[in-house]
Amino acid sequence: MLRRWTRHALLSLLVLIVVASTAVWVIEIYPRREPHPPLRLAQGTLALQHARIYTAPGAPPIADGTILIRDGLIAAVGPQVAVPPDATVVPCNSCVVTAGFWNAHVHFTERKWSLAEWKSAATLNSQLADMFLSRGFTTVIDLASNPADTLSIRRRIERGELSGPCIYTAGTALYPPHGAPFYLREALPWWTVALLPQPATSEAARRIVHRNLGSGADLTKLFTGSWIERGRVLPMQMDIARVAVEESHLNGRLVFAHPSNLAGTRVAVESGVDVLAHAADDTRGIDAVLLSTAIHNNMAMIPTLKMFSMTVTKDSHYMDPIHAEVRQFHQLGGQLLFGTDVGYMTDYSTEGEFAELGKSGLDWQDILAMLTTNPAARMGVSNQKGTITSGKLADLTILSADPSQDLANFARVQAVVRSGKVVWRR
Ligand SMILES: [Zn+2]
Repeated sequence: MLRRWTRHALLSLLVLIVVASTAVWVIEIYPRREPHPPLRLAQGTLALQHARIYTAPGAPPIADGTILIRDGLIAAVGPQVAVPPDATVVPCNSCVVTAGFWNAHVHFTERKWSLAEWKSAATLNSQLADMFLSRGFTTVIDLASNPADTLSIRRRIERGELSGPCIYTAGTALYPPHGAPFYLREALPWWTVALLPQPATSEAARRIVHRNLGSGADLTKLFTGSWIERGRVLPMQMDIARVAVEESHLNGRLVFAHPSNLAGTRVAVESGVDVLAHAADDTRGIDAVLLSTAIHNNMAMIPTLKMFSMTVTKDSHYMDPIHAEVRQFHQLGGQLLFGTDVGYMTDYSTEGEFAELGKSGLDWQDILAMLTTNPAARMGVSNQKGTITSGKLADLTILSADPSQDLANFARVQAVVRSGKVVWRR
């Protein structure tokens, strides 16, 4: 009797182990195969005619020009470009064309992206269009999500199964010990929060960064200052941040940091972080000296102003100092990148961010650089992206109105071309 019971228990255990391993493989391992799919270029010839073309921020516009695209690359651009008879003409009635926009701060963390490997192309295409393509984004930087979802979406886009932007990803972020932000603790189940990497030693941080980059991440994201409670920031220990930065740089990868306040910004600046993923929203003590040091260390900033005004408060006592910080960073010569933190924010419209950037004293040419040349330079791909230049990738954002007349026109997207293919049209 006892023997039969033991045999039964062993059999049940075995079944349980097989089921659990299969589930882990299906949910977590299989979706991460092929983390760096090759870029897919569309074949054929496309032409955009009678367009107002802003080839680069600061360059004189081409008032009535043509862009010729061949096999995914820009073949020619100018006022007089011959269009071969076999070219597909993209409709453009007095449209305005710029290089494809970048959103340097996004997340694939909303529930609708989970188990992306097993979601239909139709579902994911409409989500990708809503969040990115319809806003003009041809390249996005994911600053931490579940890699099983992000890597799967990226693979399916580059395999041609989905229409979406080029995705860079930070994989999973690193937090201080007991340093998960309160808004994540409120949104995620406790076991997910417990699994977030929170290294207590610099060697643990090095291992995590190494493993994260090795399993498909393109960059590192650190919470150098984490809002662990409303009104309370926990900074990352300097030696841990330094080693995480050192390990990333040894692998030729950039580090983005969430600073939150003075202490978090100091850790980012002194540890050698490359990009502030937000302006610090508690600006007390952040002065020209610290910002100059950051700029001298070649650090860039993603303001994410609309996110602060939407998720904290529009109160001018809160927003005015953040606008002033961004203005000062810009005036001192710091490089700004456009980013909205969509995914954390469920409102995907970009118009509000353009308006907020205007309040920080940025003009349309500054913002065009934030959307195109600055992120391309920061990610080391200026030879392929950022301007409308023959030989570069045909990533184009087609607007129905001119952003030099009104910043809100950056949000009036008519169509998007990525790697020579029209991937979205209004
Ligand atoms: Zn974020």
